Amino acid sequence: MAANSQPVVRFAPSPTGYLHIGNARPALLNWLFALRYGGRFVLRLDDTDRARSTEEFAEAVVADLAWLGIEPDLIVRQSDRLALYDAAADKLKAAGLLYPCYETPDELERRRKRQLARGKPPIYDRSALKLTDAEKAAFEAEGRKPHWRFLLDHRSVRWTDLARGEIEVDTASLSDPVMRRGDGTYLYTFTSVVDDLDLGITHVIRGEDHITNTGVQILLIEALGGAIPAFGHTNLLTTASGEGLSKRLGHLSLRGLKKQGIEAMAVASLAVLVGSAEAVRPVASMEELAKLVDLARLSHGAAKFDEAELEGLNAKLLHGFSFGAVQPRLRALGIEGGEAFWLAVRGNLERFADVVEWWRVVEGPIDPVIEDHAFTATAADLLPPEPWTAMTWKAWTDALKAATGKSGRALYMPLRLALTAHDHGPELAALLPLIGGVKATARLRGERA
Ligand code: GLU
Repeated sequence: MAANSQPVVRFAPSPTGYLHIGNARPALLNWLFALRYGGRFVLRLDDTDRARSTEEFAEAVVADLAWLGIEPDLIVRQSDRLALYDAAADKLKAAGLLYPCYETPDELERRRKRQLARGKPPIYDRSALKLTDAEKAAFEAEGRKPHWRFLLDHRSVRWTDLARGEIEVDTASLSDPVMRRGDGTYLYTFTSVVDDLDLGITHVIRGEDHITNTGVQILLIEALGGAIPAFGHTNLLTTASGEGLSKRLGHLSLRGLKKQGIEAMAVASLAVLVGSAEAVRPVASMEELAKLVDLARLSHGAAKFDEAELEGLNAKLLHGFSFGAVQPRLRALGIEGGEAFWLAVRGNLERFADVVEWWRVVEGPIDPVIEDHAFTATAADLLPPEPWTAMTWKAWTDALKAATGKSGRALYMPLRLALTAHDHGPELAALLPLIGGVKATARLRGERA
């Protein structure tokens, strides 16, 4: 990329549902591209479908992106930009490239069936182009409102895709696409182009389901006299069984994942790295993730992701977090244990919120679980004098082993149950100094502490 050209990318969801992990992929691929090349990121809310778009979903899109770590440089809504679409439509009409059609859906359907019966491709036959002014007036008098089609020049459109290399879309095999409906609303193919031109979008990075659209959109851009951006069509995220993700999959919605306690960077790492040339692994920051994304090296097949992988990724991410990275979050939970506490427990977390229970174990009070009173009483007697370090545990348990003849599980499990009331958890060598002599002694004697 030329050093002097600042890329401008956009993510353009329609606010008709909550964003899910599949939507996170294009959002992140654009965001990381902007991050890597010092570009700008525009969030465009494709809300021209007034029946299905809601304010609540629009606000949720912004909030869910923020949770992921995406802060757009600019947010626009298509519903605020209708005058631009009208102006662009007028320009195309004046050039004879947008023409009115009066067929009803039924008429079109019958025509399609006839074409198919004759073994012809069911492409719109452009009969509306032959209508005389008198015929058009007659339709209007009947109360018919025209829909408007874009006159494709039936060329083969080629571009070098950022993700897929050379692509060719033969527009001769397509019907002239409807750009404006009878009710005056515009279709996405059209509004998207008008916006991309107006907002100076330099790179359109989106799912491969838009490849055919791109063929049409490049013709539209040319017709409107704009500069053609670079296009990158990325593989889509599917479930492990290959199904597409829909907004109805609530548990994979970004807010659902957040509610389940999944870390945003675990979602981002999975959404971006699956189906890429990189191994899926937890990446702690967007800056690092940005270095790993190379659109040209994305796989061309579907990016299948395994929901279960998210759990493991989340845990691994937590296990690697430095104290500095989580300090504000610990403080927000009222956890004052410092770095020693974090390093002692992080390896046992599946969710960040699990720290609360380990902090309770350190701070008390807890009700110890005592299996053998005599044994834990002996253990209490043998506790070395403080101050304690990470070495205390070994010195203590060696002495206890010598005194009681117990070893292995018989030695360690009663201590763990008495000191933590859990039968599993962080290394006791690290926990013991955090618990301290007063509480450890009391717990080993069976007292709540
Ligand atoms: N609103 C469109 C979609 O969600 C945007 C596609 C695009 O990026 O152009 O599919």
